[in-house]
Amino acid sequence: MNPRISVKCDVLVIGGGIAGCATALQLARRGKKVTLLERDQAGTRASGINFGGVRQNGRDMRELAIAMRARAMWDELPKLIGFDGEFRATATCGSPPMTNAPASSTSSTLAQASTASASSGWSGRN
Ligand SMILES: Cc1cc2nc3c(=O)[nH]c(=O)nc-3n(C[C@H](O)[C@H](O)[C@H](O)COP(=O)(O)OP(=O)(O)OC[C@H]3O[C@@H](n4cnc5c(N)ncnc54)[C@H](O)[C@@H]3O)c2cc1C
Repeated sequence: MNPRISVKCDVLVIGGGIAGCATALQLARRGKKVTLLERDQAGTRASGINFGGVRQNGRDMRELAIAMRARAMWDELPKLIGFDGEFRATATCGSPPMTNAPASSTSSTLAQASTASASSGWSGRN
């Protein structure tokens, strides 16, 4: 039998994925007393197994402002939460990660990347 726990808070957030954690963080920054409930381990579901793509290109124009704001926040993580969340910016403008490979191999890398995303069923738009 689960023990009963009594918690007093302003907001109860259920789910410790990126959506729940980000919501809890922003509410706490605004002075709310937040309790976050996670049934498993925070960040181990969709948020822990994704491709890690943080992008602004290829978005609907209506998403662009919030995508830019979110992108800036990734750089601010050390200041916000005390560590970088393992975020590393490895490419810009939708390019594959920078390498020292000759230019001729770039299209091959792009083709591999698009094949990989097609075979995984991930369209790159979420
Ligand atoms: C293969 C894959 C690749 C992806 N690649 C990208 C990418 O490159 N870039 C990108 O931006 N997005 C990507 N996404 C999408 C992105 O991962 C999701 O949109 C995002 O992680 C969803 O976050 P979430 O917090 O809503 O869900 P989740 O991370 O799934 O978190 C939900 C949490 O709620 C918990 N929970 C559920 N029910 C309860 C309950 N009753 N009580 C307590 N806890 C509960 C779960 O245990 C879980 O931890 C990808 C997704 C997948 C699957």
